[in-house]
Amino acid sequence: MERVAVVTGGTRGIGRAISEALNEAGYTVAANYISSVEKAEIFHGETGISIHRWDASDFGECQAGIARVVEELGPVGILVNNAGITRDATLHKMAFESWDQVIHTNLTSCFNMCRCVIESMRQRAFGRIVNIGSINGQAGQYGQVNYAAAKSGIHGFTKALAQEGAGKNITVNAIAPGYVDTEMVRAVPEDVLEKIIARIPVGRLGRAEDIARAVLFLVADESDFITGSTLSVNGGQHMY
Ligand code: NDP
Repeated sequence: MERVAVVTGGTRGIGRAISEALNEAGYTVAANYISSVEKAEIFHGETGISIHRWDASDFGECQAGIARVVEELGPVGILVNNAGITRDATLHKMAFESWDQVIHTNLTSCFNMCRCVIESMRQRAFGRIVNIGSINGQAGQYGQVNYAAAKSGIHGFTKALAQEGAGKNITVNAIAPGYVDTEMVRAVPEDVLEKIIARIPVGRLGRAEDIARAVLFLVADESDFITGSTLSVNGGQHMY
């Protein structure tokens, strides 16, 4: 089993649950973050998981960050592209910066991170890449042309890279979470959130651990026949 796993945005929210689940399963986890320094340090203190600060939307920072991880922990066998932000507004009110930041943080980061590990994965003929998409990349969402475009792009990126990696035992899959109880969703106004929950057939928001469970399944050595797929984890809200 390849041991070193990198999780972008891996110190809080869904990423934290993914880092912890991988750690408990025996992987050596490098949890990346960008701005929440104190939360990352608390996470490190509570879990013992190593933390690594860089901007996943910046190619040069990803190169330097991955080089440090490889030096400290060894070659990267598992990559979870989880970092993401929202900058919601309807298109007619959306600033260019909100478009640009969301595309770079949510989509360009996948290119950056995959590009930094793919050659080593190809040489070692092993890789497990999981990209965190979104139900809103599958179905669209009012006020989120930037986010829906970025997440939809992730799904296309996943299928294309899966074809390139297939002959080298590198699987590339996406997970499309529905609404999960994290700070990102707690930022949604309460009345809007109530309406969202009413549309989820299982009757609750997702838990970060629900997504982590799907990641563990996809990165297992035995999951080598599963590639180019998108696993929806959304309580039945959108069946795609
Ligand atoms: P949070 O807002 O709770 O956490 C986002 C994470 O991304 C943080 O760890 C943050 O780091 C990190 N991050 C943001 N920008 C960068 C960057 N440039 N470089 C490195 N790390 C960065 O989000 P969630 O946990 O809710 O979401 C995680 C992923 O799941 C995202 O991709 C999101 O789009 C997706 N998703 C979430 C859903 C939900 O309902 N919550 C539904 C569908 C998809 P820091 O802590 O330093 O700020």
